Amino acid sequence: MLIVMQTGASPQEVDAVKDKIAALGLTAHTIPGAQRVAIGITGNKGGLDADLFILMGGVKDVIRVSQPYKLVSREVKPDDSVVVVNGIKVGGGNFCVIAGPCSVETREQVLSTAEHVKKHGAHMLRGGAYKPRTSPYEFQGLKLEGLKLLAEARERTGLPIVTEVKDTQTLHDVAEYADVLQIGARNMQNFSLLEAVGESRKPVLLKRGPSATVREWLMAAEYIVARGNYQVILCERGIRTFETATRNTLDLGIVPVLREMTHLPIIVDPSHGTGRSTAVTPMSRAAAASGADGIIVEVHPDPACALSDGPQALTFPMFERMMQEVVPIANLVRAHQQA
Ligand code: PEP
Ligand code: MN
Repeated sequence: MLIVMQTGASPQEVDAVKDKIAALGLTAHTIPGAQRVAIGITGNKGGLDADLFILMGGVKDVIRVSQPYKLVSREVKPDDSVVVVNGIKVGGGNFCVIAGPCSVETREQVLSTAEHVKKHGAHMLRGGAYKPRTSPYEFQGLKLEGLKLLAEARERTGLPIVTEVKDTQTLHDVAEYADVLQIGARNMQNFSLLEAVGESRKPVLLKRGPSATVREWLMAAEYIVARGNYQVILCERGIRTFETATRNTLDLGIVPVLREMTHLPIIVDPSHGTGRSTAVTPMSRAAAASGADGIIVEVHPDPACALSDGPQALTFPMFERMMQEVVPIANLVRAHQQA
């Protein structure tokens, strides 16, 4: 259950609610917000009676445990959450561009890509070192060596690193090098992994599962936040539908809907969302127009020779052009939102 305090509830009123929760033998979790405080309750076995709290001073609303997600909900925290990665903001009006290869392949490939995307305005570098592949015979990533190359690219360019953590066994190594832990679409409901990254204090980029409803996706985010890690970024990367002309169906319509449901920042992955490099720039423009907090795109110096996801990789000139087209749209949307 969650107790949502009124804007301007006094500290004494907040304490009185917490004292009552403690008196019931339960645990109170204060969830800070720009406008008002919410207090989460854990430890209860069955449902709690809302009447216990609704008439207390300063209480605005009582949300029952039967709500499927709570800590990530907009209801609990009306103001947008901003995830800050080495000083770079994701959310809160900043359009964040994460770019880089699908997989880290060679030193030259990752360093040249990092330098190019940095030069043209990317805020973070992506690159997979541990790759979840549909086939066991496909390239599985350079693993630890890949992480070291990403760290070298960060040193050279200053770009924070976004890289996938595939399982709990490799989490320790990945967390040592990564600035943002990416949870891949196939792992969205790997609950042990969600709990483990929830224990870590690194920001997490949580991709939507290919067949996940928004409710399932937000529940996955709740797993991470419930463990105390509030730094979660949601990433729409396309879902599986009957359509085969695109690799996945990019569900851009979910961006404004998610905005109402959650305070977490939302980014869009038009690379996996379409599977076609020619569709990436138009859908990046659309992502910016939809009000997303950023995009994550795949870029490769020579897509024809890429060891994974070549058909959806932007070439260097394509990335440069994409940035020229997308940044003005993001600026326009921000100007409208601030007006
Ligand atoms: C990736 O980002 O390269 C990736 C494997 O993405 P997803 O988990 O969305 O398929
Ligand atoms: Mn990929």
